[in-house]
Amino acid sequence: MTTALLVLSFEGLPLTAGHDTLFMCDTLCCANTHACCPALIADGPRGVRPVVVCTLYYNWSYVGPDGEEHWHKHYPFCGGIFQSPIDIHNDILQYDSTLLPIELVGYNLSLTEQFIISNNGHSLKMSLPPTMYISSLPFRYTAAQLHLHWGNRHHPEGSEHSVNGKRYAAELHIVHYNSDKYPDVATAMDKADGLAVLGILIELGSFHPSFENIFCQFANVRYKDQTIPVTGFNVRDLLPERLDEYYRYEGSLTTPPCYPSVLWTVFRNPVQLAHTQLVALETALYCTQENDPSPLEMTDNYRQPQEFDERRVRVSFRQGVVLSVVLASILGVLVIIAVACCLIRKKLRGKKEDDVNKAVVYKPALDKEEDISNV
Ligand SMILES: [Zn+2]
Repeated sequence: MTTALLVLSFEGLPLTAGHDTLFMCDTLCCANTHACCPALIADGPRGVRPVVVCTLYYNWSYVGPDGEEHWHKHYPFCGGIFQSPIDIHNDILQYDSTLLPIELVGYNLSLTEQFIISNNGHSLKMSLPPTMYISSLPFRYTAAQLHLHWGNRHHPEGSEHSVNGKRYAAELHIVHYNSDKYPDVATAMDKADGLAVLGILIELGSFHPSFENIFCQFANVRYKDQTIPVTGFNVRDLLPERLDEYYRYEGSLTTPPCYPSVLWTVFRNPVQLAHTQLVALETALYCTQENDPSPLEMTDNYRQPQEFDERRVRVSFRQGVVLSVVLASILGVLVIIAVACCLIRKKLRGKKEDDVNKAVVYKPALDKEEDISNV
């Protein structure tokens, strides 16, 4: 199904400043924006000219005719290179001593500020302020939003990244854009150095009070396009304790349009959610709007692992990686010893046969040869 995506912003103001409106409408309406949204245009700041961008948008989902195997038809990057997520396994890891601990600024959000939690039909999303950023990368990457991926109550394995084939219960993504080079996340999202996403793996374990800042709003964003403002909390508490141990690789958005624009940081250590919290996440939300006659539960909103080609995942920590290198080295030495033994044995056997052969006197067997040629 094709619809139109209308982006209405105001000249000179960044898209993240709260003056933008992004919504779906039909193609005809998109072509005539004044008729489509006169109130919104009138609501713009006085004297500021509205800028309207209108593009065609194709629906996508995780299952059915718009499922991930069809994404590339309308979103060609989804069938391209540098795609995410991936399975992070030992064969592709490379220790990199230059990977510094992740440093975060402004993650402790103000209690007096409000942030929007929304159901966008694909995930639960929370807007983040431009005062929040990563300071330890070559550019400043400013936060834009966070969202989650999860499974379902019968198969609670819904992380996007997996480690040595193991899929975790869920995964939190905190999306940042390169604010040194680009004015907003929409401009940055298709640039090679445009985005940096922090991936936090979530496993079943003990109750996590900080996630309740988001989860307590489930009832208010049950259906697509519903939103609710929430007061600030410390987003740092959603991350694992150690920010110095992580996997780093260059990949993509895991949803259409799958731009290969993401510098991924997936933390080595997962965080934990209680069973009740996971079940709430897996059962609370719908991909469809409130009055939809065929409601669709929001479950299994994760993409399958992608081909990794010739890429390498750099790791900031030695443990495990060193062990695998040592094991590979031991295996290599054993193979060399085995080959050497075979060669020596073969040589000795050859020498023995030579000695035996020297003792044998050969005579021509003419009669036998004639017999054979007649068969
Ligand atoms: Zn994501």
